[in-house]
Amino acid sequence: MSDNYLRLVSYDPHWRPGEAAAREAVTILRDVFPRAEHIGVEFEEGVTFFDAGANTESINCPLCGGDLEDWWGEAMDRAASSGFEDLAAVTPCCHGPTSLNDLRYVWPAAFGSCALTVVNPDETSLETNQLRRIEQAIGSQLKAIWQHL
Ligand SMILES: [Zn+2]
Repeated sequence: MSDNYLRLVSYDPHWRPGEAAAREAVTILRDVFPRAEHIGVEFEEGVTFFDAGANTESINCPLCGGDLEDWWGEAMDRAASSGFEDLAAVTPCCHGPTSLNDLRYVWPAAFGSCALTVVNPDETSLETNQLRRIEQAIGSQLKAIWQHL
C-alpha cells in the first residue's frame, strides 16, 4: 500500500513556529482531515527539502520557464554540502539570480526547518480558506506539498 502525506512548510526555510502555535495549527488540521491516520509537527535539525516524492514531475525556471531538470541535481548537491544554508542559484537558461526554493516545481516542493504533516489525509486537496486558517494559527505563510510515496 502506498502512503500519501500532506506537508505544510513555511515559505521561509529557517522559520520555526512556537509550540502553542504549532499545537493550534494541528488542532485545526484535525478538524479539516478527520479521517487522517496521523497529524503532527516535525521539527528538523537543519533545513530539509520536502519534495513531492513519486509525484515529482518537472522543475522549471521561475524567470523564463526553461527546463531545469538536468541542472537541478548538481545544484542540489552543491546546496546540500552546505546543509541547505545557501539556496541562492543562478539559472543556467537565462542566467538570472534565484533561489532553489523559488524554482517552479510542477508539484510543489519546499525547503524548511519544520513541517506540519498529515499522514494519509484521505483527501486530495486543501481549500484556500482552510489553509489561511492554519497560516493564521501558526503565524507564517505555508506551502502545501502533496507527497506520494
Ligand atoms: Zn531561465
